Amino acid sequence: MPTKELLMIPGPTPVPDRVLRAMAAPMVNHRGEAFAKVFDEVTVGLKKLYLTDHEVIVLPAAGTGGLEAAVVNFLSPGDRVLALVTGVFGERWVKIARAYGAEVEVIETTSGQAADPPELARRLANDPSGEIKAVLITHNETSTGVTNPLEELAAAAASHPALLMVDAVSSLGAIPLRPDAWGLDVVVTGSQKAMMAPPGLAFLSVSPKGWERAAAATNPKFYWDLTTYRKQIATRQTPYTPAVSLWFALREALAMIEEEGLEAAWGRHALLGRMTRAGVRALGLDLLADPDYASDTVTAVQMPAKLEAKALRGELRKKYGVVTAGGQGKLTDSIFRLGHVGWVDPKDILQSLAALELALDSLGHSVVLGTGVAAAQTVWKEAG
Ligand code: PLP
Repeated sequence: MPTKELLMIPGPTPVPDRVLRAMAAPMVNHRGEAFAKVFDEVTVGLKKLYLTDHEVIVLPAAGTGGLEAAVVNFLSPGDRVLALVTGVFGERWVKIARAYGAEVEVIETTSGQAADPPELARRLANDPSGEIKAVLITHNETSTGVTNPLEELAAAAASHPALLMVDAVSSLGAIPLRPDAWGLDVVVTGSQKAMMAPPGLAFLSVSPKGWERAAAATNPKFYWDLTTYRKQIATRQTPYTPAVSLWFALREALAMIEEEGLEAAWGRHALLGRMTRAGVRALGLDLLADPDYASDTVTAVQMPAKLEAKALRGELRKKYGVVTAGGQGKLTDSIFRLGHVGWVDPKDILQSLAALELALDSLGHSVVLGTGVAAAQTVWKEAG
C-alpha cells in the first residue's frame, strides 16, 4: 500500500473533503444570480472572519499578489516606508515596495525574535512631520515561526499618520487579529492557510484611511486597481472573471469556520502550537522562536548537531508519510518547520511527533520513543 501522506507544511494546508467537493460543482454565469448569491455569502463570511466592518477585496492571486496589490494601491513612488523585518516574508514586503519605487527603511530583528513595539514608537517619534507614509508589518513570520505582537505594534504607531499595512497570510483565522479594533489599515491574507481552501485567492481589508490614500496614490495599475473591485461590490460581481470554483470552495470553508467558531479556531491553533512545542522540546530539540512569541501556526525546529535537515525531512516523508517544510533563506540548513494551520487537529500533531521520533531514531539520533508524543498528550489532556 502506498504511504498515506500527512501534509504538515505551513501552507498550502490540507483541504477538507467538503471544501474539495464544493469545487467540483458545475460552472455558473459569473454575471448571473447564482454567482451573486455566492458573492453575498462570501462577503458576509469574510467580514466575520476578518472581524471588520470594512470592505474585504478578493483577488485571484497568491498571497504575494495581495501584498503587491497593497503596495501598488496605497503607496506612490518615492514614498518613505518603514518595514519591520523578522524573516523572509518581511523581506518580501521590502522587495515589493522597493520594486515600486518606495524608499524603504528597515528595522531588522535577529531570526527567532519578534519586532519590538517600543523601538517602533521611538522611530516614529523621530518623524514628527509624518514623512513616513506606511509601516509594513508581518503578523506571523512563517519563515521563523514567530508571531509579532501586532496589537502592541499598532498601538505604538497609533499617534503617527502612517498607514499600517499587515501581511496576515499565515495568521488570519488562526491567531487573534482584530483589524478594526487595532486600527490596521490594510490586512492581506490568502486562501491556502487558516481558511482551509486551496491556494489561489488573496484578500485585502481596507480601512477608510486606506481608501483615502488610494485615491491619491500614483503607482500605475489596472488589473490590481482595488478601487475598481470596490466599485463593483454593489453589483455583487467582480470586475473581471472570478476564479469561480475557488469561490465555491471558499464559501464552504467559511461555513466550516463559522460552524467551529472563530474563537474556537484560535483556541484549536493555540493548542496545536503548545502540543507541538512541548513534544519537540521533550525530544531534546531546540526551537528557533523566542518562547514568548512562538507561533501557533508553524514551529521552526533547530536541527540537532550531526543531522541534516534534508535527510530528516526525507526520512519523515518517505518512510512515515509526514511532509514538513525546510528552512528558507539563511535558515535553509539549520531548521525544519512543522506547519499546524488550517484543517489540522491534535491527532495530526501526535502522529507527526511519533513519526519524528522514529525518523530521528532511524538516523541514529538518540531519542526515547514515545517521549515527544507523551508530552503533547499531556498538553492535550490538560486542555480538557
Ligand atoms: N506572507 C507570509 C507570512 C507567508 O507565510 C506567505 C506564504 O507562505 C506569503 C506571504 C506568500 O504567500 P504566497 O506563497 O501565497 O504568495
